[in-house]
Amino acid sequence: MMLLPGSTLGVLGGGQLGRMFCVAARNMGYRSVVLEPQQNCPAAVVADLHIQADYTEPQALQQLAELCDAITTEFENVPAESLEFLEQRKPVHPSAQAVAIARHRMQEKQYATEAGLAPAPYALIQSAADFAAAAEVTGFPAILKTSTLGYDGKGQQLVNDPVELERAFQQLGQVECVLERRLSLAKEISVLLARNAEGNVACYPPAENEHRNGILHQTIVPARVDDTLADRARLQAIGLANTMDYVGVLAVEFFITTDNQLVFNEMAPRPHNSGHYTLDASLTSQFEQQVRVMCGLPPGEAKLFCPVVMVNLLGDLWPIDWQNCLSHGSLKLHLYGKEEARAGRKMGHYNLLSTDLEQGITEAAEVFSLLSK
Ligand code: ADP
Ligand code: MG
Repeated sequence: MMLLPGSTLGVLGGGQLGRMFCVAARNMGYRSVVLEPQQNCPAAVVADLHIQADYTEPQALQQLAELCDAITTEFENVPAESLEFLEQRKPVHPSAQAVAIARHRMQEKQYATEAGLAPAPYALIQSAADFAAAAEVTGFPAILKTSTLGYDGKGQQLVNDPVELERAFQQLGQVECVLERRLSLAKEISVLLARNAEGNVACYPPAENEHRNGILHQTIVPARVDDTLADRARLQAIGLANTMDYVGVLAVEFFITTDNQLVFNEMAPRPHNSGHYTLDASLTSQFEQQVRVMCGLPPGEAKLFCPVVMVNLLGDLWPIDWQNCLSHGSLKLHLYGKEEARAGRKMGHYNLLSTDLEQGITEAAEVFSLLSK
């Protein structure tokens, strides 16, 4: 079944991802409804309707199900029961099961391994009794990560020895964690794809991600990796999506180690920050893909028009002097409409398009250096 323009699409979460989804839906003639507890959330002004309620509130979920022809999510931390509730009433993509896998670090690693991908050596830690056996698997240094709810480097700690492991587990609140070997990284890349229910896939070229303080700073596309490795990463991401019979937009993060190994890191069952460049540099944006796939349409062409650098604008930079930024003729600015600029908060991003990737990287950095003067 195809949902055509005029249909109503629901999204759980009204942050920037929900907002850009609603814009894509609106551009294509769909109506959108956002469920999000936060008043004045970024998506509220672009959605046709904002249901302001908690993600678990039965009445709100019921209303969403009644109003919408299909439903998606902007983040993986929605309660599983909410997605299951909706799934019993309307098509939900990605499925509650896929979201549940991606939400849990242990499960996503297990699934990825089954699909032939290679995560860093890891072990589950539920209590202090698991420390020794886990450290045996990973060695030190290792990274202790909470099984769920981690993002932007939050909920994880580097540990160099058994004493630090014990302390980190305490500091993370003794919740279930995954310990993984700390690898020596040459690069981080992500592969974004969209897959529909018939198994048609549009896969974007690998993107190269640079983090600062655990938060994505910039994404460079295409990633500066050799073709063999780029192809391998794409095939692995597609293989993972096929194994999960995944329907939706999927982002798969990989590490490339200093000895050139391709290592699976994690996946996001939704559009991804590293895919924001697709808004301006690709034939089909990741948000249009989200609309298409949940509507049962074929994914759009994922072709890249030209090299592009996406730079995140965090609240730390505020107030910004927009002059330089907006004077650049091939820079596209996207702001999320967040009123309060807090440190570490993602306020917007820009995409700098170029004919030459290295030149684009230099220009993107120049613009960045002049932002908060
Ligand atoms: P998040 O959910 O916060 O994105 P990630 O697991 O992707 O969590 O980790 C955040 C960042 O921490 C990664 O992008 C990478 O820079 C670093 N990192 C995570 N795991 C490892 C590892 N096993 N070895 C080396 N660096 C790591
Ligand atoms: Mg990550």
